[in-house]
Amino acid sequence: MLRDAVRSLAEAKIAPYAAAVDEEARFPQEALDALVANDLHAVHVPEEYGGAGADALATVIVIEEVARVCASSSLIPAVNKLGSLPVILSGSEALKKKYMTPLAKGDAMFSYCLSEPDAGSDAAGMKTRAVRDGDAYVLNGVKRWITNAGESEYYTVMAVTDPAKRSKGISAFVVEKSDEGVSFGAPEKKLGIKGSPTREVYLDNVRIPADRMIGEEGTGFATAMRTLDHTRITIAAQALGIAQGALDYAKGYVKERKQFGKPIADFQGVQFMLADMAMKIEAARQLTYAAAAKSERGDADLTFQGAAAKCFASDVAMEVTTDAVQLLGGYGYTRDYPVERMMRDAKITQIYEGTNQVQRIVMARNLP
Ligand SMILES: Cc1cc2nc3c(=O)[nH]c(=O)nc-3n(C[C@H](O)[C@H](O)[C@H](O)COP(=O)(O)OP(=O)(O)OC[C@H]3O[C@@H](n4cnc5c(N)ncnc54)[C@H](O)[C@@H]3O)c2cc1C
Repeated sequence: MLRDAVRSLAEAKIAPYAAAVDEEARFPQEALDALVANDLHAVHVPEEYGGAGADALATVIVIEEVARVCASSSLIPAVNKLGSLPVILSGSEALKKKYMTPLAKGDAMFSYCLSEPDAGSDAAGMKTRAVRDGDAYVLNGVKRWITNAGESEYYTVMAVTDPAKRSKGISAFVVEKSDEGVSFGAPEKKLGIKGSPTREVYLDNVRIPADRMIGEEGTGFATAMRTLDHTRITIAAQALGIAQGALDYAKGYVKERKQFGKPIADFQGVQFMLADMAMKIEAARQLTYAAAAKSERGDADLTFQGAAAKCFASDVAMEVTTDAVQLLGGYGYTRDYPVERMMRDAKITQIYEGTNQVQRIVMARNLP
């Protein structure tokens, strides 16, 4: 029922704008409005804070169905979870109440600020500092590649509180867009997910109350990594949705397109490509849903499974979207058809929340 509901909404209210959002590289406001109106913008927020209280699998299905028509729009529910999960996992009750309530209502979005210009895969090498000053912390630094920066009201920011301790000297904070000293860089000009703004976040002597720290001092990096264990599964869901969207489009196209006097769907070479695409998608789906169940239960092997799902599903998304372009021939290579957008959008799923090389490092360190 959830899938049917999200699919109809996505097809009616999000899909019609997907090409324009990509072409104009603009924020998908129509998608945000539709998702908020239907309480689908941050479904993971627990009911006690006014949220829908969706479990990890339901959240994955929402993201998958939105990504099937517009990958940029699927980053609304996905990044709302990424940005707010540190607070849900490690924050005080007061922080949860204060920040989850507006998120659940749709009054605010949440971004996640881990990466920096010189700290990507090696996130613990970050330079952003948070220095205690009385009952406040003062933050200085630059966060890079921040999804929905400028659109979000709230930002989970990881910053160094004790440089001598490397990852154990990193703490997490909630920073608000309206805090003095917060500003944003120009939107990045990207290959895909062009509707999702990616900007730098500048922290220039941002003074915030000490109770905005998420959890204890020095636990920020552990919280950031624990968050990714859960949210890599949402990137797997995004990849899965993009791949399914491309397969669905190609499936329809091959029945219409005629060459050599018959629909190209009649050629076995084309049928085999479609069969492989569907097989890979189904394998990615099973891995992703199993990972979502592990996320919900907090299973011991979640770290492996989350990395495996993200890595596998994103590689599948790249393969399947590339094959979808192939099945449309020259038409697939143009912006008159959606599959080239899907191919460009798929690429990011192999890069963010840890590149697929980093996922393989994570899996190797956590072999089942
Ligand atoms: C559109 C977009 C949105 C993003 N959104 C966010 C966000 O909201 N919040 C956030 O915090 N970050 C975000 N990111 C950042 C993203 O997570 C990083 O780009 C990613 O982790 C890679 O870091 P990097 O770009 O510095 O690449 P690098 O770390 O410089 O990696 C370059 C290459 O080296 C490889 N490599 C690095 N180390 C190793 C190793 N040990 N072994 C093998 N290969 C290695 C990588 O796999 C990659 O192929 C976003 C990025 C993009 C492009």
